[in-house]
Amino acid sequence: MAIIAANLQAVRERIAHAATAAARAPASVHLLAVSKTFGAAEVTAAWQAGQRAFGENYVQEAVNKVTALADLPIEWHFIGPIQSNKTRPVAEHFAWVHSIEREKIAQRLNDARPAHLPPLNVLIQVNISGEASKSGVAPGAERALATAISRLPRLRLRGLMAIPEPTPDVTVQRARYALLRRLKEDLQADDAGIDTLSMGMSDDLEAAIAEGATIVRVGTAIFGKRQAVHSEA
Ligand SMILES: *Cc1c(COP(=O)(O)O)cnc(C)c1O
Repeated sequence: MAIIAANLQAVRERIAHAATAAARAPASVHLLAVSKTFGAAEVTAAWQAGQRAFGENYVQEAVNKVTALADLPIEWHFIGPIQSNKTRPVAEHFAWVHSIEREKIAQRLNDARPAHLPPLNVLIQVNISGEASKSGVAPGAERALATAISRLPRLRLRGLMAIPEPTPDVTVQRARYALLRRLKEDLQADDAGIDTLSMGMSDDLEAAIAEGATIVRVGTAIFGKRQAVHSEA
């Protein structure tokens, strides 16, 4: 578990270096530790090393972890695909959802958000690398979804998220993230509450920060390589 603290420190240094290189304040980039497939012990080790926000992809796995770690005031973010029959546990256990791509899911999250909790922070996922297989709305389609979400009182639209197809080409990484930044700036012109760009992972967080990421989602560089491929029950 000592390795998790050392890895976290290394990731924080990468973030600070990338922010400084982009003439940004390091504190303007928030680190989301992606703990999918890892257990409560690994999350606790990261917590003890000062990490406060964690991201999860699989509803049942996540709810088990959130429940086991209820004593720690962790900020939980849901970043995986959401099926419509899983919206209630997501609305009940998370502070943020990064992966909104359909109005129906937004409506169901709104309806299930408990009254004693603040509105759920949500991001619209945009497909910025264009393959048919990947999730997210097509660039341009985020506007209509943003308008629909703005009518839902129990959701608070904060911005955009993307998971581009991996590429080692930094120029391509930058171009895709620049596209997401421009889409976010367009939304921001109409809605001052938009302040978040969730983009960048273990292998490309520097390019994302150069293009304005405010949340980077990092798993492998903190917790190590994930073992099994997970499937949702
Ligand atoms: C798994 C995952 C990550 C973390 O990816 P790493 O390459 O391990 O840093 C980030 N975002 C999403 C949506 C993920 O599913």
